[in-house]
Amino acid sequence: MDNPGFHHYRMGETVVTALFDGFVDVALDELVGLPLATVLRLQRQAFQPEPSRLPVTCFVIRRPGSTILVDAGGDAAVDPGLGLRQSAMLAARIDPADVTTVLLTHLHSDHYAGLLYPDGTAAFPNAELVLHANEVAFRLEPSDLAAMPPEQRAGVDAVRRAVAPYRDRLRIVSHGEVLPGVDAVPLPGHTPGHTGWRVSDGGRQLLFWGDIVHFPAVQFSHPEVSLSYDADPAQSAATRAAVFREAASGGFLIAGAHIDFPGLGFVASEGDTTRWVPAPYAATAAA
Ligand SMILES: [Zn+2]
Repeated sequence: MDNPGFHHYRMGETVVTALFDGFVDVALDELVGLPLATVLRLQRQAFQPEPSRLPVTCFVIRRPGSTILVDAGGDAAVDPGLGLRQSAMLAARIDPADVTTVLLTHLHSDHYAGLLYPDGTAAFPNAELVLHANEVAFRLEPSDLAAMPPEQRAGVDAVRRAVAPYRDRLRIVSHGEVLPGVDAVPLPGHTPGHTGWRVSDGGRQLLFWGDIVHFPAVQFSHPEVSLSYDADPAQSAATRAAVFREAASGGFLIAGAHIDFPGLGFVASEGDTTRWVPAPYAATAAA
């Protein structure tokens, strides 16, 4: 019954492969800024599953001389619906040992836990790991560790375990070019160091925007709706509105971690608001 779990997209010399990692369950009452009844109506109008669940997708970017992974996916031991990235990658015939760089959008378990195999070894033995400085300060090396409640401290410990085999090849960035044709774009709010990765090739651009949107049926028309577990819900809403405006006027391609697979598409203006337009298959399938 398994679907292949991968999808290739070509942009100039760059081939992007979406890898399906599975689902996480997020209850609708985690959405803040809109009455639950309205959220439920929008979800139903979009034929979303009940109870609500989010798809999780990671992406491989292959260009001459580099194989870049954007987010590592989760681990079934942490989030039981996740961890399919490994088999999707195998099916797409991409060798984890060929990955030269891992770019993380942020340090939540559905994005970083796949850095490790269950035995604790690195899933990407030859890759450097790139993180935003504010994410390192938030989740890896917090200055207030001693004062943290035990649950939060356990979260830091889990991040440290996942990052441990990459410590000697960890690169901390803030903004701008991190690799030829690849830029870090700070998109704070969901976490302080939440980062988009922008890839340019042949005059076209693709922004991997991580967790800008969790509920497409709700947030494209209501960018003010955040999640209760956003580190800063107001900042998350402001960032989302700004990136929607930029994407709609710029017309560039978006890759979203929690948008229906393969998570590639465009933001279109619709009156005062926006909607998601999935990239047409004929345009996304690699030739
Ligand atoms: Zn996420």
